[in-house]
Amino acid sequence: TEHVKLDNMRKEFVADVSHELKTPITSIIGYADTLQEGEYDRATQEKFLSVISSEGRRMADLVSDLLTLSRYDTNRVTGNITEFDLGELAKKCQEKLEIEIEKKHQEVECYVTADVPPIKADKNGIERVILNVLSNAVKYTPENGNIKIYVGFVYNDAYIKVIDNGIGIPKEDLGRIFERFYRVDKARSREMGGTGLGLSIAKEIIEQNKGSIDIKSEYGKGTEVVIRIPALKKEEEK
Ligand code: ADP
Repeated sequence: TEHVKLDNMRKEFVADVSHELKTPITSIIGYADTLQEGEYDRATQEKFLSVISSEGRRMADLVSDLLTLSRYDTNRVTGNITEFDLGELAKKCQEKLEIEIEKKHQEVECYVTADVPPIKADKNGIERVILNVLSNAVKYTPENGNIKIYVGFVYNDAYIKVIDNGIGIPKEDLGRIFERFYRVDKARSREMGGTGLGLSIAKEIIEQNKGSIDIKSEYGKGTEVVIRIPALKKEEEK
């Protein structure tokens, strides 16, 4: 029944969270104990300490993503609805990721069509979603790759499309990509600092803003993510 299904999902979620937290904790304790027990030269100490620090940071990221998810789950993020321009927000997000983009020598181009009406939504939430989708494009596209951002307007929806020519997602994984903790390649995603919660948070936020998020991808070729949010009609604009 529906009740049993929900209960199983909850149990699975708790198991996933515990596992995701346990991995960095184990490694922090391991390295800290090792440092305490032996005499190491400065360079080795630094190496151990940097693992401790990055694993600690991973835990902090995970907890912060979990808190965000839980806040959206309980519908507590309804405030902060403002009117804004999606094209401007897209460009701001691109600027925020400038360092990561430059590190990978990628080319990111943003095209905004002239006639996109403003949207009225949770601006911080939408910014978070765009940052997540765009940083995924950067993360999962090799060096010197291309990323294109299109902002436009279709059937009363403002949309933002992020297209990359990166590693893509296998067909069999595509349907599960919005699930919590679902990752195509767990090891690789972790290595890149991913929590596996980004897209599930994105979906939650977009749905609460009455929009939609869809992903298309071809393994080895690239990925396209489209987010649509209802735009304000002319008479609604002030
Ligand atoms: P993560 O924190 O692992 O990036 P997300 O929820 O943001 O988690 O994404 C889930 C998974 O979807 C990622 O682990 C990755 O395998 C895949 N993915 C997301 N975006 C892309 C993309 N642009 N190209 C290739 N794979 C992607």
